[in-house]
Amino acid sequence: MSRPARILVRLPNWLGDALMARPLLHGLRHAHPSAEIRAVGPAPLLALLEVERTFDAGEPWPAAALARRALTQRLRTWGPEAALVLPFSFSSARFARGTGAAMRVGYGHELRSFMLTHPRRRRSLGELHLSREYLALGEPLGVVPVPLPVLATTPAGRAAADALVARAAPGGRAFAVMAPRSAYGPARQWPAERFAALARALSADGRAVLVCGTAGERETCAAVADQAGPGVQSVAGETDLPALAALVGRAAVAVCNDSGLAHLAAALGTPTVTLYGSTSSAWTAALGPRVRVLQRPPVCSPCFRRTCRIGYRCLTALEVEEVGRACREMAR
Ligand code: SF4
Repeated sequence: MSRPARILVRLPNWLGDALMARPLLHGLRHAHPSAEIRAVGPAPLLALLEVERTFDAGEPWPAAALARRALTQRLRTWGPEAALVLPFSFSSARFARGTGAAMRVGYGHELRSFMLTHPRRRRSLGELHLSREYLALGEPLGVVPVPLPVLATTPAGRAAADALVARAAPGGRAFAVMAPRSAYGPARQWPAERFAALARALSADGRAVLVCGTAGERETCAAVADQAGPGVQSVAGETDLPALAALVGRAAVAVCNDSGLAHLAAALGTPTVTLYGSTSSAWTAALGPRVRVLQRPPVCSPCFRRTCRIGYRCLTALEVEEVGRACREMAR
């Protein structure tokens, strides 16, 4: 099938993973400029990515089983000829089969190969960057790598960011953003007190510092800001994803754990310092023109654990001074 008229893409569910799917989305649009491409994924991720126009319509992936069945049926009526399945789960392959797509491409594991027409063999974890793994799913459709633009922001996102910046960094003051949490767990989180010490140091350089996170991360972000003192504010939970993107896109520098915000900052072209713990930077380093990875891997790294029984040595090996130096060197 060289020229499918309708292509379905099941996006990953996490922000960082979805941003690592951008090379595939851009390559797919380039290879099939007149195909109708629909992307299925969490609504906030669709709202962030739709501005790039790599897909024609976004279909939010509902939480309720009944709504998922209805979506599958609606897509079956639409009639995709090809479906690219990026999540590695059994259910995402079953969903693709349910849409009736004649060609279904995904990695063949979790006993799901029989639901895919093109089950791909996965290399060992970390051998290939995750963005390359996703890109390879487009090969049966003739997708090749294309230059990756910086992620665009939306007018509504920029307007919301204007209001936040006016409050948190008035008078055109340069600001840094930091993200002290990671949804994955403590083994990806540099200690909060070190983020606070870093925020104090960046603030002493004359920059405002905005501590970013989701609504569920408010408490940690507020604690970091309080501990850091004047010039440091938490904006956790105050933005939707397009507004957060517009805010982060204006920052002088972003310093983050291996988290969605690191991937967002990097995709926007913001100088980004990423702190790695239990995971592999070879596999998931953020994609962008100005990214620096800081990782001091002990022999047990990467273990990919969410928690650690031996004291988070990979994270505590990163000192505030070293991270501060990287931020100053990277800042614009
Ligand atoms: S086992 Fe090693 S790599 Fe894993 S979280 Fe602990 S210190 Fe870090």
